[in-house]
Amino acid sequence: MSEEGGMTKKRSEDFSNWYLEVVRKGGFMDQRTPIKGFDVITPWGYSIWEIIQKEFDAMIKQKGVQNAYFPLFIPESLIKKEEEHFAGFRAEVARVTDVGGEKLADPLIVRPTSEMIMYYMYKLWIRSYKDLPLKINQWNNIVRIDTKVTKPFIRGREFLWQEGHTAHATKADAEEFLHKIIGLYSNMYELFAIEGLKLVRPQHDTFPGAGYTVVFDTLVQDGKVVQGPGSHFLAQKFSKALDVSFTDEKEQKQHVWQTCWGMTTRQIGILLMHHGDDKGAVLPPGVAPVQVVIIPILFKGKEEIVLEKAREIAKKLKARVYVDERNHTAGFKFNEWELKGVPLRIEIGPKDIEAGHITVVRRDTREKIQVKTVTDVEKMLEKMQHDMLEKSRTFLKENIRDAKSKQEAISAMAKGGFVRINWCGSAECDKSLKKETGGEIRGTLWGKKEHAAGSCICCGSPAKHVAYAARAY
Ligand SMILES: [Zn+2]
Repeated sequence: MSEEGGMTKKRSEDFSNWYLEVVRKGGFMDQRTPIKGFDVITPWGYSIWEIIQKEFDAMIKQKGVQNAYFPLFIPESLIKKEEEHFAGFRAEVARVTDVGGEKLADPLIVRPTSEMIMYYMYKLWIRSYKDLPLKINQWNNIVRIDTKVTKPFIRGREFLWQEGHTAHATKADAEEFLHKIIGLYSNMYELFAIEGLKLVRPQHDTFPGAGYTVVFDTLVQDGKVVQGPGSHFLAQKFSKALDVSFTDEKEQKQHVWQTCWGMTTRQIGILLMHHGDDKGAVLPPGVAPVQVVIIPILFKGKEEIVLEKAREIAKKLKARVYVDERNHTAGFKFNEWELKGVPLRIEIGPKDIEAGHITVVRRDTREKIQVKTVTDVEKMLEKMQHDMLEKSRTFLKENIRDAKSKQEAISAMAKGGFVRINWCGSAECDKSLKKETGGEIRGTLWGKKEHAAGSCICCGSPAKHVAYAARAY
């Protein structure tokens, strides 16, 4: 799935084409499809998604969430029942207007998200407080025909995700559960070895129909921000629109309180843009489909003994390991696994066997280290995971800049990263900031109240929030 030859683009010179090259040469995605924005996630890219699925699925099941599957199509008449929700997607939805040549009286919408179809069923399923909480997730695909330029994994027209949707008897129960989910996404971010900024989105920019939205905004190496997983407190917006209700313990009718939360295949793009280097992808061990690749260095007459040793080490390792016995040169293999971002590479030749050591190369630092046992190799994986997360934390810390005026915001924004400002909370000021700096207000810190002192850097009226602004994908 990957091409011969290494990287030709550099991050510092052409980040955009560097990224495209990483995606292509690492074998993460193939965009040469006949439909723009509908791409093929190739096996190496898909295997990362499978690990993300496996890890997150186990976490949500521990919290009592069950998986289910709902229809791909939503009748337009149904999706229109919540006007604000539909308005948020109207420009991006694909409509099926005829079937078998017959015009449909009620066109079908290809799901841009599943609230309406799921809650239609929730209304049928929920009768009493005894049916609550209801916690369902689905792993599926969605379609949003974005008109902007597409970018592999980051901005596509069809993507894979999980969408969790819960219904609760009380506001407190719904919010408490949502906080647990945000905690699970934090756990995922540890596996990604990424420090994301957890932000509450400005009210004027929340998920259509939501009470509030918490997202993991992630800085990538060109200083722009990519939105990661989003968690939405929906309050009773949908339950009132669709009359999803229950009778409480006092026989009173109540509307349910809801949450929804999602993480998409965009996460793969975030990983590549955040950790990659000029040699290709760098995957954190936590989500690398192959954590250790073993490359036998074969010399005439010593082939068997080398292969035997390679297989023996593979067998002993608890990590996800692959012995590359393909009929290619060692140099070709080094290059290919480097492009793919495999965390550790073990090279085994007759000399290593004689010396009784294992030669390991770390993908992130490219250090060559000799160790004695497979336990040492496993420790290196842990160390690498830890180091990559620390590096990410430092990167974030170094890229949050304070701006006390619009002028300061303009120069801070030019450096990339987050710009921290005092903000009055108005959408107009966000708009003018965007016009003048190219960056938008991404939100306020989640779970930590920052006290705003002074005045809004845009309009001069008293500041209500400490907000984080950035240029975003
Ligand atoms: Zn203002």
